[in-house]
Amino acid sequence: MEHKNLIGHDGAVHEGLLNGHTGFLIDVACDAGRYSVVHPYEKLDPARVTDTPLSCPSCVAANSPAAAQPHRGRLAHGYAEDVLAKADSRGYVPAKDDEGLRLAFESLAVENPPHRCLYTLIREHLTDMLTDRALAAPEGVPQVLVPYKRYTGGEVQAPVGPGDRLMYYSAAGGYFQYVRVEALEESPAGVVVTVREKEWPPFTWSAHELGRRFSKLDRAPMPSGAAER
Ligand SMILES: [Zn+2]
Repeated sequence: MEHKNLIGHDGAVHEGLLNGHTGFLIDVACDAGRYSVVHPYEKLDPARVTDTPLSCPSCVAANSPAAAQPHRGRLAHGYAEDVLAKADSRGYVPAKDDEGLRLAFESLAVENPPHRCLYTLIREHLTDMLTDRALAAPEGVPQVLVPYKRYTGGEVQAPVGPGDRLMYYSAAGGYFQYVRVEALEESPAGVVVTVREKEWPPFTWSAHELGRRFSKLDRAPMPSGAAER
């Protein structure tokens, strides 16, 4: 998540909360909403980015240490941490669409679940956390990179490690085939990656072929005590 000072339609300087990989403006720190800075279906005009200090009283108040309400970015971050921890305890990646988030707060039994308007910020924090996890380099294995397509946009090259789930490219039919990485080994011809699909016999790919055919889905945590699927 990126924070930038932005000049709104009203001339006031608001604190903008943006997607750090695509530059998409998600929200502003006050209640004015993103349309106080961009018009619907328009991208953020770079000319609106400014070094001028915040002048919107609500955005200033939101950043004050004595603020009555926590900053909505931090509030969303806390919710995202809870959703991820819950998903980790089950051994799955969290659903990041609106319905998935709604169900997560239901199962977390949050007393005052966040309003829908906070979902895009929560989703962005979740995506950032999952990206950090996907980019963490595994120890003791040769480096092999495959694309990782962030849920809210932006693509990075992520290192592959044992336990990772990789998705076949262009599986857009609603059925997402994935494989689990079992091992990475140096060989005279380069690095060889062993993957397994379902319970079928393992298969090996060269590092180069792997990066062409697969993208990274996640590095799913292995919950202690939970049965491995
Ligand atoms: Zn504001």
